[in-house]
Amino acid sequence: MHEMALAEELLKISDEAAASAGAEEVLRVGVGVGWLLQVERQSLAFYLEALRRDYPRLEHAVFELDEEAVRVRCRVCGEETEQAGWGFACGACGDRDVEVVAGDRLEVRDMEVRTDDV
Ligand SMILES: [Zn+2]
Repeated sequence: MHEMALAEELLKISDEAAASAGAEEVLRVGVGVGWLLQVERQSLAFYLEALRRDYPRLEHAVFELDEEAVRVRCRVCGEETEQAGWGFACGACGDRDVEVVAGDRLEVRDMEVRTDDV
């Protein structure tokens, strides 16, 4: 069910971006999928396929799902470091007082669209 909600959100964001760009059709959407979401990729792809009938602009879009690593900012030394798993800690000083700054969300990175100029 997690993936279904994420798919819905992704379709909505993509559609809104396409609409504000005046696009007739979306060809490709590059998506960063945060590691922290623990997304089942196949399941997300399934729901994207199933739910996009509500979004005519996205009917033929290819969704490229790219995993995005978790990055944290240290509250002690201020460094930003990439994390390889659970139990987040600063990669510079080792302190656990860190804040997640990336890898905790879905993000549309780039998009290819078709606009009708005629
Ligand atoms: Zn630190």
